[in-house]
Amino acid sequence: MRKSLLQWLAIACLAAPAAAADQWLSNAHLYDGLPGSTVRKVNLRITDGRIAEITSAQSRPGALDLRGAYVLPGFIDAHTHIEDPASARRALHSGVTTTRVLGDAFLKGLATRDLVRDGYVPGPQMLVSGGHVRPQLGEAFILSFPQFGRYLAAPLQGSEQVAEVVRAVIARGADVVKVGASERAGLARTDPRRQELSYEELRAAVLEAARSGRFVAAHAHDRYGANAAVRAGVRSIEHGTYVDEETLILMRKQGTFFVPTLAIMSPLGDPRGDDADAVALQLRTLHMMRPLRDAVRKARALGITVAVGTDSSYGDGDDYGRVRPGHEIMELIGCGYSALEAITAATYNSARVLGIESRTGSIAVGLEADLLIVDRDPRVDPTTLFEPLLVLSDGRIALDRLALR
Ligand SMILES: [Zn+2]
Repeated sequence: MRKSLLQWLAIACLAAPAAAADQWLSNAHLYDGLPGSTVRKVNLRITDGRIAEITSAQSRPGALDLRGAYVLPGFIDAHTHIEDPASARRALHSGVTTTRVLGDAFLKGLATRDLVRDGYVPGPQMLVSGGHVRPQLGEAFILSFPQFGRYLAAPLQGSEQVAEVVRAVIARGADVVKVGASERAGLARTDPRRQELSYEELRAAVLEAARSGRFVAAHAHDRYGANAAVRAGVRSIEHGTYVDEETLILMRKQGTFFVPTLAIMSPLGDPRGDDADAVALQLRTLHMMRPLRDAVRKARALGITVAVGTDSSYGDGDDYGRVRPGHEIMELIGCGYSALEAITAATYNSARVLGIESRTGSIAVGLEADLLIVDRDPRVDPTTLFEPLLVLSDGRIALDRLALR
């Protein structure tokens, strides 16, 4: 019977303890994630959690024979709301080896990040915003920052107030800052066509974050909010539904990244809801999908770097938790991307949004061995991306279903 990687490693350890740090994966189809690359047959050596060697494929005695399976970089989900250990584990088992958490109630994402980092629970590596800086901070935010109790009654307003809140979030350990340039889409009583923070306030957030080397991600649906955020120098536009051509051209010029979160719109527009809010959200979603897909097509034509973010909580029991990078990749393919381009958007491009492309997000000698191994050629059948056979994070096995093959 075929051995799983865990059994194989156990045998390797017994047989040759000195060589246990080396793992060979043989007979693999590799897509390294880099733009313009294609699929090639290789053997891979992993040593001490990193890619140590990539050679042309011949069978290697002692290697784990992948029998032609496809090796890709682990997904980097650039927009999630993971805020508990079970959701972190679900993400990792979906092939997500790194994620950026843009908004976590009660700072639960920050705590989950620390539990994963310290090895108490399995999960992707997490960069976390710890809250959403916007005029209406909301009770969940203020319960974590009671010094801002005055914003329960009055909105956050002006550059100084915004900078003070950004400082507080960073002092609590945020890796990245999320700001509201537009109102939210996921609530019936907010209007995503309305701008929230002003250009001056957004600029104050960018400057304050830059003082400690942090990037700013802007939640932006409306054209004016998106334009203000891009001019203010944010790292990425999240959603971007009504972004206009002028702003897209500016994004191209400034190197602003675009994380359109197309796939989350489908559960938002799910017709199964029966209350008045659900109906309002369905109608709104139908109207938002067309401009958003148009914006993504234009972004691709202009050469803007689009990255994959699911906006998923990876929770169970709610529709927003079900979205996976595979769904977003299918949406990008629907907007004219090739399967490999869409996988690059979910790996290398996302790594660039997070500023970590020198250590992960592609497969090259010296980078972290964050790998997703799937059964079939994703160019022929992208649904294979929903069924990881093997997930490695820093060379460690996070999921092993090879024996099921
Ligand atoms: Zn979100």
